[in-house]
Amino acid sequence: MPHPSYRGRFAPSPTGPLHMGSLVTALASFLDARANNGQWLVRIEDLDPLRETDEARDQILSSLEAHSLNSDEPIRFQSDCLDRYGKLVQQLIKEGKAYHCTCSRKQLKANGGRHPNRCRDVSPSITGGTPTAIRFALTDEWHTWTDNLQGNLTQHIHAEIDDPVIQRKEGFFSYQLAVVADDIDQNISHVVRGADMLEMTPQQCQIYDSLGAKPPQWMHIPLVTNQQGQKLSKQNHAPALDDTQASANLLTALGLLNQETADLHSDHSTNEILCRAAERWQPSRIHLTAR
Ligand code: GLU
Repeated sequence: MPHPSYRGRFAPSPTGPLHMGSLVTALASFLDARANNGQWLVRIEDLDPLRETDEARDQILSSLEAHSLNSDEPIRFQSDCLDRYGKLVQQLIKEGKAYHCTCSRKQLKANGGRHPNRCRDVSPSITGGTPTAIRFALTDEWHTWTDNLQGNLTQHIHAEIDDPVIQRKEGFFSYQLAVVADDIDQNISHVVRGADMLEMTPQQCQIYDSLGAKPPQWMHIPLVTNQQGQKLSKQNHAPALDDTQASANLLTALGLLNQETADLHSDHSTNEILCRAAERWQPSRIHLTAR
């Protein structure tokens, strides 16, 4: 059944050019949106200037365009939204849902993740002075949720021990807060993304909750791996897509998603391939790998 207000997105961090793994994720989110008569947005998650480059951002955008994966709305850049994240961090601190953390990584490690400085309790007194990291205060729970592909899932959230950093000591905002803030601001109803984000999902659900918003529907698709079984990534030297072979790349990606491609050829245009693939999109055909 098409979902009347479906809004999906693809949200790459520009750490390198698109490779087959990221194309599979982009394509799955695009096809799921189109199959539901929904909108599909592109958002560049450029929060970490130490790991991300303008060159990678431009390569990703031109690669998406070459594959006719075009955003239905102007592209959002997280680097343009820093004021928004700053306000949210302050709001969460005020409401007692986030706190200043003065413990070093070493101290936390030595204490099994507990804070020797008792940051959750003493936090309000250290607002001025030296910069500190800000952490989101998780609630201890067995979190259960439904993933549209993986089914019913459960994960134990350990308050204090798992509390994620939402703003680093150096001032950068972290992915965990920004991704939720943007998905709320952009009214994203369905998130289709790689299964490497599965573990973070319950924490993100708590962040939604703390901001008074309802989490989207989730679908986590298996990661594409190389012959050594490693996730395709820049660190593992996954080759950049050859944008001159866009139709063939889309067919390979559809094959990895185990979709029907028998009557599609690499001499079809990218738009034609996307259109036909959306008509017969069947996420239930995606092979689940062991987690
Ligand atoms: N920006 C994240 C990444 O590139 C993905 C975020 C998400 O889809 O929630 O790994």
